[in-house]
Amino acid sequence: MSQIRVRFAPSPTGYLHIGGLRTALYDYLFARSLGGKCILRIEDTDQSRLVEGAVENLIKSLEQLDLHFDEGPGIGGDYGPYIQSQRLELYHQEAQRLLHSGHAYHCFCTPETLAEMRQQQQEAKQFVKYDRRCLALSEEQVQAKLAAGEPHVLRLKMPDDHEFVVEDLIRGTVQIDASQSDDQVLVKSDGFPTYHLAAVVDDHYMQISHVIRGEEWLSSTPKHIWLYQCLGWEAPQWVHLPLILNQDRSKLSKRMNDVSVEIYLQKGYLKEALINFIALLGWHPADDREFYTLEELCQIFSLDRVSKAGAVFDLTKLDWMNGSYLKELPLETIVERSLPYFESAGLKVPEKDKFHRMVEVARQRSNLLAEIPEYCRMFLETPNLQDKDLQNIQKEDAKKVLSWFAANLPAHFPLDDGKVDSLVKEALAATGLKAKAFYTPLRLAMLGQAHGPDLPSTFAILGDSEALARIQAALEL
Ligand code: GLU
Repeated sequence: MSQIRVRFAPSPTGYLHIGGLRTALYDYLFARSLGGKCILRIEDTDQSRLVEGAVENLIKSLEQLDLHFDEGPGIGGDYGPYIQSQRLELYHQEAQRLLHSGHAYHCFCTPETLAEMRQQQQEAKQFVKYDRRCLALSEEQVQAKLAAGEPHVLRLKMPDDHEFVVEDLIRGTVQIDASQSDDQVLVKSDGFPTYHLAAVVDDHYMQISHVIRGEEWLSSTPKHIWLYQCLGWEAPQWVHLPLILNQDRSKLSKRMNDVSVEIYLQKGYLKEALINFIALLGWHPADDREFYTLEELCQIFSLDRVSKAGAVFDLTKLDWMNGSYLKELPLETIVERSLPYFESAGLKVPEKDKFHRMVEVARQRSNLLAEIPEYCRMFLETPNLQDKDLQNIQKEDAKKVLSWFAANLPAHFPLDDGKVDSLVKEALAATGLKAKAFYTPLRLAMLGQAHGPDLPSTFAILGDSEALARIQAALEL
């Protein structure tokens, strides 16, 4: 296999999982770093788990994160179709081959029979697996049952007493005893293949060179290796990525809010931060650097720097990283990306200069895009001061500051940063007040709260007349 071809093969269960994104990203980085191809394949053979719109959502999320695949549904390619439910013919053809070569057999056991079997094995403290009772059926019995239309599945006959060796590019040589492997169902009673059959057939026909997937699939790999052998095909290279763990090192939460990439994007995490953060979930660069663009990752990623140990999903770190990107990316970008959040917060944005200055101030104090409009609310809504806001200030001091500004501002319109600075100096001297007694009433008057950005920014964002109007209104209060 000369060409590097990897696939991301999600089941469309409704959203892109953080773990799925990590696999997709590593597939992408691995392929890009070696000039290979990256394939998107939709594994939708479990008809009971189909969710409407899931495929479109998935593709949209990957696109939003700038992970552009080379082949896949809606993209095209020479090995399609890339949706498994459109490849049933192929799975049937290969299932028939396995049947004829004696590697697969019909099983007519009902769910009730299987449940009973499982219970008996559990009670006898045996390894729970199919006891192969249907393997004992004669060819005539099988044909009679088929003719009578009895529901059935097709099972893979696993070898007995066989030790499987998985050569994994991350984990090294892993030995797995086949006595632990069940006779896997390959074709279900609804005629659809299981994941195992479909994935192996597709990986072969799509000429996948490296199967990169989560560690949870490692225990299935012997079945896959055996399938390759039975079908007379060369197996791909195996790459099992470390588990992603919660802070307490348990397996990553399954709650959708914690693991759905769409939800992270909606909350206002930036694609740059998500990609950077996810890249570091199991892979370590050669130096201590933390920040990488997707392009840089494509250059330097390599599997030999992926660890075996589970990677902890540290939300605090993601927030910090997102906050850093929020401050470092070009202001234009942040302005543009924060727009929808202003809309959903019901806030009307002001003209360009004010808006840019406002977002500049807000991004220095936010970790998420969604926090930007919330911070800006104080500029966009007239303060509604209550008695409790005024409890901690001396009314006389407040009156001094506010009346000074009310009297002196208009003569200096239009204000600019330099003028505001010198006015503040003048006012401090004229009122003789200490910093806190001076700034608190001014900020309360202009912003409705005691904390806020520096005064030149505040004046610039509010504009001359709005600033004056707010000061006058507070003075009356
Ligand atoms: N469809 C499987 C999943 O949802 C893919 C596993 C694999 O990559 O082989 O994770």
